[in-house]
Amino acid sequence: MNDFVIECEKLSKSYQDGENQVEVLKGVNLKLTQGEMLAIVGSSGSGKSTLLHILGTLDSQTDGVAKIKGQRVAELSRKEQAKFRNQHLGFIYQFHHLLMEFNAVENVAMPLLIKGQSAKEANIHALAMLDKVGLSHRSLHKPSALSGGERQRVAIARALVTNPALVLADEPTGNLDKQNAIKIYDLIKELNNTLNTSFVVVTHDLELADKLGKIAYLDEGKIAIKESGYVA
Ligand code: ADP
Ligand code: MG
Repeated sequence: MNDFVIECEKLSKSYQDGENQVEVLKGVNLKLTQGEMLAIVGSSGSGKSTLLHILGTLDSQTDGVAKIKGQRVAELSRKEQAKFRNQHLGFIYQFHHLLMEFNAVENVAMPLLIKGQSAKEANIHALAMLDKVGLSHRSLHKPSALSGGERQRVAIARALVTNPALVLADEPTGNLDKQNAIKIYDLIKELNNTLNTSFVVVTHDLELADKLGKIAYLDEGKIAIKESGYVA
């Protein structure tokens, strides 16, 4: 038994664009053990979101294998994939996607309610998670009453409240200034430390990418992995 949270072998993805076949991923190999973190960098259109969507069971590859927690996710039915996401994965996007008519704790509790927890139980866990992201004093605020950085913290709490093995984040600090972006990365590192959650984070910012330990450079459909620590 290994404890790989991600295993990709010769992963390829192409789109049919009219007459043309666009090859986005051309044989991506990638392994991540439970608790490891990875930043994905690459120019716009290099396939970062495509890769993240395949890892997250939201899209499927044209060729090759993607295993999450040992499971070949493409082989699951749509219904099984939805269950798999709810049990093992968390998602964070550039835009927070919080429900505006619900307050912070209600937003964080939502995945637990979907999972079948009682409202009372979900509320207790959601409050504890909000505390972990430093927002217990904002639990009754609606997103409109929160700052950009606070909204992303709520989105992080929502992604982590089910205790997923893997969190996939697509430019999670794309709407934040540098100071707030650094705080979000420090929070991600702290949560990784205490919960052993693996994170795969797409970012444009090499300095932020460098904080996560491993960097995957996506270029021409191929990936090159480097251990971080060399970016000044
Ligand atoms: P990134 O996130 O790195 O900016 P994407 O993964 O979004 O890049 O897109 C990679 C390439 O795949 C782009 O050239 C994009 O136009 C193309 N692409 C993405 N989704 C589709 C789709 N549904 N149909 C056709 N082409 C797509
Ligand atoms: Mg993208």
